[in-house]
Amino acid sequence: MALGLSYRCACGERFKVYLPKGVVYTETVSRAVDWRAVDAREEADGEVDEVQRVAESTGCTFVDGRKTPHLACPSCTSELDLVDHFRTRLLAV
Ligand SMILES: [Zn+2]
Repeated sequence: MALGLSYRCACGERFKVYLPKGVVYTETVSRAVDWRAVDAREEADGEVDEVQRVAESTGCTFVDGRKTPHLACPSCTSELDLVDHFRTRLLAV
């Protein structure tokens, strides 16, 4: 499944973030896995669209991590480095 990550800003604004696995896992888990291929397959299968649909149906703002590694909250203008934030969490599991 494509990564659909939830983030809640300090101001209460809620986001659903899609991050390509190649961005999160590059050189940290296994070099044997071709994450770009995994991402391409998941995109082709519509999994990213699914993350966006879930975001819209739950009232979250969808953030496409392919376009920008930074989240800028439209409500309070605070910023977050998505890769730093979620990589730490995902790799701690
Ligand atoms: Zn905010």
